[in-house]
Amino acid sequence: MAEASRELFWNIPLGPWIVYPLAAIAVIIFAWASYRRYRLIAIGKRGVPMGSWSQRIVNFIGVGIVDGFLHKRIFRDAYPGLMHFFIFWGCLVFLIATAAETINKYVFHYLYGPTYLVVSAYVDIIGLLALVGIAIAAWRRYIQRPKRLDNKPEDAIALILIAVIVISGYLVEGLRFASPDPGKDAAYAYWSTGGWVFSLFISLIGINPPLAVALHPWAWGFHVLLSIGAVIYVSVTFSRFTHILMSPINVFLRPFKPRGQLDSFDIEKAIEKGEPLGANQIHHFNWKHLLDTDGCTRCGRCQDQCPANFTGKPLSPKKIVQDLRTELNINGPKVRAAMDKAAGVVKKAKPAPATEGQAPAEAATPEPINAPTIIGSRISEDEIWSCTTCAACLEACPAFIDPLGKIVEMRRNLVLEQTKMPETAQTILKCIEDRGHSCRGTLFSRTDWYSGLSIKALADDSRADILYWTGCAASLEDRSIKVATAFAKVARASGVKLGVLGAEESCCGDPARRMGNEYLFQMLAMKNIETLKTHGVKTIVTTCPHCFNTLKNEYPQFGGDFYEVVSHTEFIGRLIDESRLKLTGEVDKKLTYHDSCYLGRHNGIYLPPRHVLGTIPKAQLVEMKRRNQKGFCCGGGGGRFWMEERIGKRISEERIEEAIGTGADLVATACPYCLQMFEDAIKAKGAEEKFRARDIAELVAEALPK
Ligand code: SF4
Ligand code: SF4
Repeated sequence: MAEASRELFWNIPLGPWIVYPLAAIAVIIFAWASYRRYRLIAIGKRGVPMGSWSQRIVNFIGVGIVDGFLHKRIFRDAYPGLMHFFIFWGCLVFLIATAAETINKYVFHYLYGPTYLVVSAYVDIIGLLALVGIAIAAWRRYIQRPKRLDNKPEDAIALILIAVIVISGYLVEGLRFASPDPGKDAAYAYWSTGGWVFSLFISLIGINPPLAVALHPWAWGFHVLLSIGAVIYVSVTFSRFTHILMSPINVFLRPFKPRGQLDSFDIEKAIEKGEPLGANQIHHFNWKHLLDTDGCTRCGRCQDQCPANFTGKPLSPKKIVQDLRTELNINGPKVRAAMDKAAGVVKKAKPAPATEGQAPAEAATPEPINAPTIIGSRISEDEIWSCTTCAACLEACPAFIDPLGKIVEMRRNLVLEQTKMPETAQTILKCIEDRGHSCRGTLFSRTDWYSGLSIKALADDSRADILYWTGCAASLEDRSIKVATAFAKVARASGVKLGVLGAEESCCGDPARRMGNEYLFQMLAMKNIETLKTHGVKTIVTTCPHCFNTLKNEYPQFGGDFYEVVSHTEFIGRLIDESRLKLTGEVDKKLTYHDSCYLGRHNGIYLPPRHVLGTIPKAQLVEMKRRNQKGFCCGGGGGRFWMEERIGKRISEERIEEAIGTGADLVATACPYCLQMFEDAIKAKGAEEKFRARDIAELVAEALPK
């Protein structure tokens, strides 16, 4: 056993003279193709904040281990997850084994004896698992045909290539073992399981040892040409295979920012420089958005989780990403050429220095870069406006791709450049602009809800423990005022002195930003930050996850980083934990909890609301199937709350059916949009008698000592 080893290029005397030049050619083609791709992606806008590179590297190592090697995200979907796991490890181990053998031959001889046998067995078994993975993939893709997968020739090519490379590798080994003098591992052939099985088969079908020796170089040549050909094919086509490289690059370069934070840009500067607002042509997107399109594996996980797609709207996040990829492939090269030409014009045409008595010559101005528009041709307005910004696609994507950011860029273009948006969206944006709130038609003022309570605006009394950022709905809308009142009652019972901004509070800007009106959002943000600064606010509690997200994650982009923001679910939880709040009243009900997207997926707050509900005497929590990270949106985010839902089933009704299906008496939530969407859905279903929607603050208030 001690001498067992394998001779690289056994029976192929010219092997090194064939493999290494061909491999070098493949590497050169690959490097050239990568450079061309880099130049194509570089047509995207710059200015993506990159943050600290050391933090990026550390983060990448962590994600690489957890989500790359261990497939944590991919395994959320067990069956396709297993398929990918087998193929991924099969390809990776084969690649490492090839490199290890080369090192063993030319650098450091270590593959002999037991080490060699164990490595051989390991590689061969992993190869078999890769074949199992390919069989699962083919079964899924071509027999089961789930809706989220679309089949292109490149998918079949990828599966066939991997399978044939693995099988031809076994065949080469099999022919070697079937020959009269296979080398120093002949006695331990069974350790190279795949090759050994093939050698048995070869003998079984009557191929004698001399014929095996004769066939071996042909099989070897086929295997080598196919493997190197695969690299060249990937380089030339930049097709499905490229995600092996592009997905990790994409993960490494992903922006470090809270998920709930949309990209910001300097509107005035953009206008001054004649830059487009938002995106409607391929080069209007930033380079990271374009890189995303290459990282996409077309796995469709995002589409599966998208509430708009699920309820029959025309939106698919996967299609958005793929449409942009198609656009990049078709029109990107023309844009690249136009940019190169323009750069050449600028370089060459530096104005000649003015001579005495002569006016300086004018510099030549390059022609503006133009490409076909995307909105209305490749991507419809209905797709763009169907998005609820729920982030289910971001959560689902194993390659950390961001379809939501791309949708918002297109909304920005529609709203800021083209003044095109659904009529209801336009009305609400006008209301926010004119009146500073999103509750069109309200009869209340921002100070009415607390006029009978012992709450004062900070302008009148600054001695408050916390600022309760009430938000438009809880200040001005009938149903949500009950939530504000309940929260005030809970705070009073805990001895917490609330302060509010009252008339000084404006809409936080979430609907404006998500509907694409960045200009209005930035105005509101700056005004609100100024107000918070004036009052020296240190701690803010919100009952609205949209306000929570905006104040916590988005205002820091404009200097709003001097306070802490806490969701009322966390705040109430803390009061309970510190024994400042005791719940003794019984709420003898079965209830289910709906995760608001902006509390859950955007901010990772899943446990605090459940913790609070768990402390209410007699309340019994039953969970819905779609919960936590996989929670299903209420349909009201991204400005959809104010827009008509003309296409497909109502998202809120889909969700309320699920909630009623649990057998609960009521659905608890922690968001005024969810609350209102559900109240409407319950009415539409005629279920008011048996089912209700309540905010967590209302349930806690009900459980206060009588
Ligand atoms: S954010 Fe939500 S609604 Fe929008 S595309 Fe993603 S999953 Fe669909
Ligand atoms: S965006 Fe992500 S989840 Fe969606 S298809 Fe592409 S890789 Fe899959």
